[in-house]
Parts: sequence; structure tokens; C-alpha cells
Amino acid sequence: MNDTKDSNWNSRTKLVHGGTRRSQWGEVSEAIFLTQGFVYDSAEQAEARFIETGPDEFIYARYGNPTVAMFEERIAALEGAEDAFATASGMAAVNGALTSLLKAGDHVVSARALFGSCLYILENILTRFGVEVTSVDGTDLEQWRAAVRPDTKAVFFESMSNPTLEVIDVAAVAEIAHAVGATVVVDNVFSTPVFSDAIAQGADVVVYSATKHIDGQGRVLGGVILGTRDFIRGTVEPYMKHTGGSLSPFNAWTLLKGLETISLRVNAQAETALQIATALQGHPKLARTIYPGLADHAQNALVQRQLGGKGGTVLSLDLKGGKEAAFAFLNALTIPVISNNLGDAKSIATHPATTTHQRLPDDQKVALGITPGLVRFSVGLEDPEDLIADLTQALDACGG
Ligand SMILES: *Cc1c(COP(=O)(O)O)cnc(C)c1O
Repeated sequence: MNDTKDSNWNSRTKLVHGGTRRSQWGEVSEAIFLTQGFVYDSAEQAEARFIETGPDEFIYARYGNPTVAMFEERIAALEGAEDAFATASGMAAVNGALTSLLKAGDHVVSARALFGSCLYILENILTRFGVEVTSVDGTDLEQWRAAVRPDTKAVFFESMSNPTLEVIDVAAVAEIAHAVGATVVVDNVFSTPVFSDAIAQGADVVVYSATKHIDGQGRVLGGVILGTRDFIRGTVEPYMKHTGGSLSPFNAWTLLKGLETISLRVNAQAETALQIATALQGHPKLARTIYPGLADHAQNALVQRQLGGKGGTVLSLDLKGGKEAAFAFLNALTIPVISNNLGDAKSIATHPATTTHQRLPDDQKVALGITPGLVRFSVGLEDPEDLIADLTQALDACGG
């Protein structure tokens, strides 16, 4: 086993070698330990392992597995987190982080603009168990200041929101939350583990849907919760291992291979996203081109500070012609696929109002900026010129 946690490697080296554990065969590529259980040499050894499980010891795949541990160590090394727990999906990570932390009577402040399933956990599940949730406009620090209270146990937000791409100031919200002793839980999917340094900026807990950029090739579901060793092993692990949301070893292996290339992929995708946003800005069919990397984005100064100027791999286009134009635009695209994932090698176009955010009442859609003409565009690895040509012909072809 390599212990890479204390190494001085830079990110790209960590992404290739971090957390690698080699078996006695000395394999180059990470092994898939597709096993649910582990054999003990003796009854005494089994007893000892249940009393205390060492770092290179395993009991049952719901508790941990060598391939899953490699993934956890690699992503923790990249993120600068003490530890990580890998989960079956991004939602298992969001639910695990919040539910393991909170109890009846606790207060949570959350940003209003969230992925639909995150909203469901906050509004429909946590409240059912007696947690009080206050939601705020995440970009307005005054609202965070006004909402936190001495009994606020956690704050939760997406550092870049889906699908309107608002960017939230991690350091400033963390300062407000820490002043009342609240834990800062950040869903960091859109910022990506490559561009974001959320833990260094003050986040206590970072969650990812690994389904997105970490896989990056549309294959498996996965997620991860990152934080201090105390939080991950003391709070998250007992909850996750008894409730069954652990990552499968096969998916962990797929995600390990995804981490090897994530930096190259998301940098290329962000570069293409900026080129597309720049090319489409001011197109007569568009009311707005939303991309955090554009100088005219409301939080562009924050993007410079928080994300090294990288605007991410997703842009949103608001078509003047509403739903009819948005549908005509989607149907006229020849390269991107119509789907609802993001961060994939293949460009993906989504109509949030009728798919990912369909469940929301109309007034909430309006409040969140999810207009009938809004199209979310996840930029893939295709040639930028081909994408710009295809998006332009599809815009020219649609009404409005
Ligand atoms: C996709 C996504 C999730 C959920 O991830 P799954 O892997 O689909 O469960 C959570 N938060 C954000 C911001 C997402 O984009």
C-alpha cells in the first residue's frame, strides 16, 4: 500500500497515483476487489477485527472494500480532506452528510437554488424528522447573516447552482456559519474537484455526485462525502454502513480510472464552454447566455477568486421564444444528446423546466430563474468548432 496522504505531490500526480494499493501481484492498474466479504485466519482474528478495524483491514463491503478505499483516498488527497466515505450515488452522499449530522430540533440554513433531489431532502425528509429549514438567496450574504441562529447546526448550498449557475461565496458563508458554530456542507458538483478548493476556503464537509465529472463518461452512479477524520469515521461511517448507501467496488474502480483523467477532461470542457458562451453571446434568439466564466456574469469576480477564473463545464441558454423555441432548438441539435446527466464526454442538452426541475411549482421555477426557454448545456469533449457550428445552426433553425 502507498500512503500518499502526506505527500507533496501536485493535483495531477495525486489523481494518477493517490491511494493506490497493490496486491501481491504488483498490478499496474488498480485491481477490482469484487468481493462482498473477507476471510479471517481464525475466530480470534475475526473477533479482533470487529473490535477494531485497522486501515488495511476489511469486514464487509457495506463497511469498506480495498477498491473503494483506493477511491476514497485518491479523492481525499485531491480535495485536501482528511478522509472520505464513498457512496452509492450523489444523493446518498447529500443525504448521508446531512442525516448523519442532524437531529430533531436542529436548524439548517440552505440556499434556495438547489438540485431537485437536494430540495426534496431538505423540504420533505429532514422537516419530517423535526429539522427546521430556512432557505435564502445564496448569493446574498445579508440573507445568510439574518438567517443563522445560535441553534443553526448546518448550512448547505451548491457552490455553483443547477441550472442557473449562481456562484456562492464559500469563504464568506463559512465565516457567517462558523460564527454560530454551524457545520458548512457544500455540494460541489458544478465547481468540480479540479477547479474548487472548498475545504481550504472554509467548507467543513464537501459532497460530490461522482456520477458527473469524476466518472465523466456516463457509466456509473457514485458519490463521496469528504471532511475531517472525526466527522467521516465518527459521524458519517456509522450512519452509512448501517443504512446501506455504500459504493460498489466495480463503480469505485470505474471512478478511480475517471480520476486519472478528470483534470485533462474538465479543463478542456471549461475551455470549450468559454468559447461557446463567447460565440453565442448576443445571438438574436437568446435572452441570456449564462456562463460563470464570462466577464458579464454577476459573480465573475468571485469566480476569479474562488475557482481560479474557471467557469465550469456547464452553460445555460435562455431562449427568447420560450418552451417552443427551446424544444425546437433541442430537436435541431445533431451532436449533443438530449439527456439529463452532466460532466460527460458527450455534450448533453437538458430542458430543466420540463425534466430535472419539473416537480417544482411554477412560482418556485420563476423565483429560481428556471424559465420556459432555459436550456442547460453540459459541454463535452467534442471539437469546439463543431459544437459552435451545431449550436448556431440549431438556434438559427428554432422559432422565436
Ligand atoms: C447530479 C447531482 C446530484 C445527485 O447525484 P446522483 O449521483 O445523480 O445521485 C446532487 N447534486 C448536484 C448538484 C447534482 O448535479
